[in-house]
Amino acid sequence: MATNPTTLQDRLTAIRQRIAAGAKRAGRNTDEIALIAVSKTHPAESIREAFALGVTHFGENRIQEWEGKRDAVADVPAQWHLVGHLQSNKAARAAKQFHSVDSVDGLALAQKLDRARCELPGDEKLRVLIEVHIAPEETKSGIAPSQLTGLAEGILKLDQLNLSGLMCIPPFLDAPENVRRYFARLRELRDQLEPKLGKKLPVLSMGMSHDFEVAIEEGATEVRVGSALFGARVPPAKAKSA
Ligand SMILES: *Cc1c(COP(=O)(O)O)cnc(C)c1O
Repeated sequence: MATNPTTLQDRLTAIRQRIAAGAKRAGRNTDEIALIAVSKTHPAESIREAFALGVTHFGENRIQEWEGKRDAVADVPAQWHLVGHLQSNKAARAAKQFHSVDSVDGLALAQKLDRARCELPGDEKLRVLIEVHIAPEETKSGIAPSQLTGLAEGILKLDQLNLSGLMCIPPFLDAPENVRRYFARLRELRDQLEPKLGKKLPVLSMGMSHDFEVAIEEGATEVRVGSALFGARVPPAKAKSA
């Protein structure tokens, strides 16, 4: 079997250097940028290994897959993020299993998360980000920019949710430079939204393996990196026979 010659540690070091380089170009402090390690399709052992190397935030995109591995990392004190599209019939499970839902795209969903969180012991709010549909022609998930203010105002009324910022999944374009305008757009939307709400929205979750440096230059405070850290994802059909 062909294996990637580099280790997780090597790849993490390379990512940290790229984060630092992007921050430097933008005159930003590296500490302002969190790495969300997107562990979907990778086993619990990979999460454990990354945590041992200092990664403290992990992102998963499917509830079901996460339920299959969360017991194996129950003792790992990391922050768990749901980064993928969430159907409202799974909202209650998500509210109980994650520290943050980074992909909220509707008020009904937010209300369900809020209600489920009420039933939990303790008073830690669920952090949420609104996913904005930044490139209508390309992607499906997220809320239209024209509906963003209304959704944000609705979420602010929900006691158990802590609205912290915005997230986007721009189109995949070979040249990261071509994605820049989408990242800039998300930042502009955030900057316009803050005074309307009278509330700071410090988080901009944007940038993935191949374009996160550009995202950092445009203000990302969280980059969601999967394949550059854990290696290429095996397509489901192959994963089964492996
Ligand atoms: C898979 C995924 C990522 C990571 O993608 P890579 O290109 O592997 O870095 C980031 N965000 C979301 C929402 C994802 O589903």
